[in-house]
Amino acid sequence: MLRTKEAYHEKLFAMRPNIFIGGERVGRDDPRLRPGINVLDITFDLARDPEWKGLATATSTVTGQEINRWAHLPQSPYDLMQKQKLIRLGARRAGGCIQRCMGHDAINALAICTKEMDQANGSDYHGRFLDYLKMYHDQDLDGCCAQTDSKGDRMKRPSEQEDPDAYLHIVEERPDGIVVSGFKMSITQAPYADEIIALPTRALAESDRDFAVAFAVPADVEGLSLITRPVWLREKDDAAAGPFCHYGVSDCIVLFDNVFVPRDRVFMCGEWQFGRRLALLFADSHRHSYSGCKPAVSDILCGAAALAAEANNISKAAHIKEKLSEFAGAAELAYAAGVAAAVYGKKTASGVFFPNEIYANVGRRLTGETIYHEYNLLTEIAGGIAVTMPFSGDFDHGDNKDALARFIVRNPALSPETSRRIWQFVENVGASSMASWYKIAGVHGGGSPIMETIALNIGYDFEDKKRVARYLAGIDEHLDDSWLRDLEPNFPTKD
Ligand SMILES: Cc1cc2nc3c(=O)[nH]c(=O)nc-3n(C[C@H](O)[C@H](O)[C@H](O)COP(=O)(O)OP(=O)(O)OC[C@H]3O[C@@H](n4cnc5c(N)ncnc54)[C@H](O)[C@@H]3O)c2cc1C
Repeated sequence: MLRTKEAYHEKLFAMRPNIFIGGERVGRDDPRLRPGINVLDITFDLARDPEWKGLATATSTVTGQEINRWAHLPQSPYDLMQKQKLIRLGARRAGGCIQRCMGHDAINALAICTKEMDQANGSDYHGRFLDYLKMYHDQDLDGCCAQTDSKGDRMKRPSEQEDPDAYLHIVEERPDGIVVSGFKMSITQAPYADEIIALPTRALAESDRDFAVAFAVPADVEGLSLITRPVWLREKDDAAAGPFCHYGVSDCIVLFDNVFVPRDRVFMCGEWQFGRRLALLFADSHRHSYSGCKPAVSDILCGAAALAAEANNISKAAHIKEKLSEFAGAAELAYAAGVAAAVYGKKTASGVFFPNEIYANVGRRLTGETIYHEYNLLTEIAGGIAVTMPFSGDFDHGDNKDALARFIVRNPALSPETSRRIWQFVENVGASSMASWYKIAGVHGGGSPIMETIALNIGYDFEDKKRVARYLAGIDEHLDDSWLRDLEPNFPTKD
């Protein structure tokens, strides 16, 4: 089934009001949540748009029906590349984060890890997960991923924390399910998701057994509170401000207070040996997703910078051309890393095709390193007007309306109206609450930069590089390049 956005809203607005903003309990129809819901609407519209059939949709591996690609388990490099392309498409329309990848990456991680746990322990998690996924596909649900725990004292393990709620944990195991408590934090999209999918955030030791827990619950389940921080733009109701202002995001502290999870929704319960595996499966899949969304963010910043150059009438200057080319490098190298991760990915025992971890991590690391630089490029090109421009009301009415229509024009080829729209866009993209969100998300989303370093230190073959150096330095007589011989790309085909 492919839900309409209206059907998505109808279900959403009927949910139990367990959202809190600024100390007040609010419903999901609170206007501060609307900019985020508008982003989700794009994902439902794309799936129903014949122009994007096959990109925004896929065939479910559990029901055989057409589903929204955000709920799909990739089966091939082609699927991974379609996902990447869809993220870039959606993010370009939303003006940035399309907010559906976390749920996508969570179901992929669970599909793979439940299979591996069953193979190791003879458990029955995978079948249980596929039953859940069937329901997820049948109802065209949207899930967010609650992975990041509040973590308390960073130098202590989960089981060593003074407050056990610093990490989500099992409070009670019952024949019919489990009871869980704890804080997850920075959870994007939770107040307008159908489902919360919870995963462990880190490697676990035997003493952390109670923290090895994964499950899915409806986002309004009894005992769950979503303490929400919406981000929106000052000018969002201003007609001159354009579609960028219709979109926003909300992140939550997700507080589980003795939440009961029925057994058929529990996908890990005490398997601490698989904590790291499940955490990394999500993180690596998510880092691959960044190779779709971050190029879109670069597209938007590059477009804003190119328009600012035009408005300043400096497009032909050599330093502007140089700076714009840097955006191209940032966007397309990240995209290329995603393509490489897809082509050099591998089939897992679950049947899910998983991106190559090295390419996913180097791509994500690059995007984290370039994000502030890209904002700097925009700032250098635009000048200071992004933070000193008068409010819309001064342009629209009052004593200074005519003077401001002259003031705003720098390039005589552009009208006052177009010039104003450009500078308003530059402000919204580069100097707003959303801009700050994108900068920090660009660094920490999918894990802090140190996590990519750790992943590369684990997965990258540094010994091989030493072998090259030893050979070229004359220390070793032969160079073993067998890994290069064995490196076979998986060529993407539609079938
Ligand atoms: C905009 C945004 C959206 C997000 N959306 C989601 C989401 O939808 N779902 C989700 O699950 N998560 C989400 N996150 C969370 C994101 O994954 C985390 O921010 C990231 O993993 C870093 O965790 P943290 O913020 O707790 O920072 P920390 O882990 O506290 O990191 C802060 C610093 O401390 C260092 N540090 C931490 N622990 C140690 C240690 N033991 N030893 C030495 N140094 C240490 C880190 O390297 C880093 O430099 C989101 C984050 C942002 C910013």
